[in-house]
Amino acid sequence: MNKILAIDDKNSNLFCLKATIEDAFPDTIIYTALNGTQGMEMAIAEDPDVILLDVLMPEMDGYEVCRQLKQDIRTQDIPVIFLTIIQNDKDSRIRALEVGGEAFLSKPIDVAELTTQIRVMAKMKLSNRQKQYEQKQLAKLVAERTHALEQNRLEMIKLLEELRAENEAHRNTLKILSESEHNYRYMFDNNPQPMWIYDLETLAFVLVNNAALKLYGYSREEFLSMTLIDILSDEDVKTLKSDIGETNRDLNSLRESRQLKKNGELVYVEIISHSVTCNDRPARHAMVNDITIRKRAEEEIRTLSKAIEQSPASIIITDAQGKIQFVNVRYSSIMQYSPEEVKGYIPRIFNPAYHSHEKLDAIWNTLQYGKIWQSEFQNKKKDGTCFWENVIISPLLKEDGITSNYIIISEDITEKKAILVDLIAAKEKAEESDRLKTAFLQNISHETRTPMNAIMGFSELINDPTLLPEERKQYTDIIRQNSDQLLSVITDIVNIAMVESGQEKVIDEMTNLNSLCSNLISRFAAKAMHQNIILRHQFYLADNESDIIIDQTKLTRILHNLISNAIKFTKQGIVEFGYKIKEDKLEFYVKDTGIGIPMGMKDEIFKCFHQVENTLTRQFGGSGLGLAITKAYVELMGGAIWLTSEMGKGSVFYFTLPLKFPGSNLFKAP
Ligand code: ADP
Repeated sequence: MNKILAIDDKNSNLFCLKATIEDAFPDTIIYTALNGTQGMEMAIAEDPDVILLDVLMPEMDGYEVCRQLKQDIRTQDIPVIFLTIIQNDKDSRIRALEVGGEAFLSKPIDVAELTTQIRVMAKMKLSNRQKQYEQKQLAKLVAERTHALEQNRLEMIKLLEELRAENEAHRNTLKILSESEHNYRYMFDNNPQPMWIYDLETLAFVLVNNAALKLYGYSREEFLSMTLIDILSDEDVKTLKSDIGETNRDLNSLRESRQLKKNGELVYVEIISHSVTCNDRPARHAMVNDITIRKRAEEEIRTLSKAIEQSPASIIITDAQGKIQFVNVRYSSIMQYSPEEVKGYIPRIFNPAYHSHEKLDAIWNTLQYGKIWQSEFQNKKKDGTCFWENVIISPLLKEDGITSNYIIISEDITEKKAILVDLIAAKEKAEESDRLKTAFLQNISHETRTPMNAIMGFSELINDPTLLPEERKQYTDIIRQNSDQLLSVITDIVNIAMVESGQEKVIDEMTNLNSLCSNLISRFAAKAMHQNIILRHQFYLADNESDIIIDQTKLTRILHNLISNAIKFTKQGIVEFGYKIKEDKLEFYVKDTGIGIPMGMKDEIFKCFHQVENTLTRQFGGSGLGLAITKAYVELMGGAIWLTSEMGKGSVFYFTLPLKFPGSNLFKAP
């Protein structure tokens, strides 16, 4: 027992009570209050174990105090013991119980009864408190359980809703799956790309789409009754094992193959495949691309590029700006530039340095309209050698008509050009020789007929018996002169034929040069005199020192021809001839004051039948063979011949011959 509150309006009563209680419960604190209000405040403040309450009190009686205490949650469990002076008052007791009092004691208070009651009440409060606590705990527990249950319930509802949603989602998923499977199947069947699935172990086809059936030409039933081997070409069947092995190893694979259509036609295909599971078995899904057209195009391109690469013509491919992209082997071998050296450069044909602006404009104008340009062009190799080529440039047009490239094909025509030049020269020569032959025949005819006519004419006249002896002598002289002339023409023809056939030989012999020359002077003296020509000579060696080794027939012929011409082409003046010794050579000259020889004919006159004047009306006779024989003889004897001349003033013919004295080591006996 700890605390007791006594409420009574009479101090004496309170005093008495206090004393009684202190006796009975010495450790107890006793609070007192003189009215109900004070009592209630104290009850709230101190929370006594028992309240002893007087019934009759002014302002607020004990019942009211008790009623208010029992209504207040802070005090309702404190046991109230009513104290009254009215003995066994039944109504008061009932009232006291009605307002919540726990006990009722009549005054004078029996101490024993009071202490018992106090103890009982105090216990009651304790048990009330305990009960209250337990109730509170219970209530708390109940509340907690209720809360937990509520939570559970809410969770259950939530779960249920989730389950329902999940169920719905599942149903939707199933629907989507089924739709998706349907779509995939539709897409597989109607995909424009041929596809099939085959079993990896048995190689039997499991699925095939419409495009594949169309490509291979089988019905679905036929296709699905076959295996992969049935559509493979013979070559692919050979490599099938290793291919399948490789394919199995690769998750995704891309390979090319040749396959058979139902009609036996071979088709090039590119197969992209990946591993799948079909009917719980490992399988392969293959997508087929028909690349027959591409393959054929590739083959064609390969052939074309080989043709370009190995072409005997040199080929350049440029871009639209004319920069080199490709050159073939022939180009490199002709031009001596490797493809790397010229790539990106502009070929010479497009280079302004090699053409006039007009020509370059003409090239581009032609090409601009998609036309082919062709011309001959002098090009230069890496080492600087120039050569001729026939060039064809053709623009390569795209589908929209715009030029994407230029192809330059060129052929080395240097040789052809040279042959052409030779051919032209040969033609000209042939024409000339034809012309010369005609002129020769005319000359020969003239040169032979004239003396022949004279011979024949005077041969007849000579038979006239009335002829005087002087006349007969004159005629005989004429016949002899003309016979000599005829013989000379025939000799010329025979000599040139001998030279040209290579049969003419040099026959060296001991010769006195001065007497050889003197003989010639006497041969021409009469003729020179006849034409009012002074014939002079100049010999380098003294007569007794002029023994040399030489082919005297040929030397005589050479000098004879030159002197004869000099006299023939000189109307009047001087003809001089002679020789000098220059080092180890003899240099002869024959000089005249005649008509002269034009510059352009200086070489020509040494050729057979060439004459400065070759018309039929020419004034000077001759076959045109004399100088040709002369030159041939000079050269045959190891010398050279040339001339200087001035038109209208005269000419000088020079020729050299090796000088060989008898006994000299230069001499070689024939
Ligand atoms: P031809 O029988 O015509 O004289 P040649 O071969 O001896 O034949 O001479 C060829 C040509 O060279 C002559 O026809 C002549 O036109 C020219 N010719 C040769 N010698 C002389 C010369 N001394 N002066 C001028 N023309 C000459």
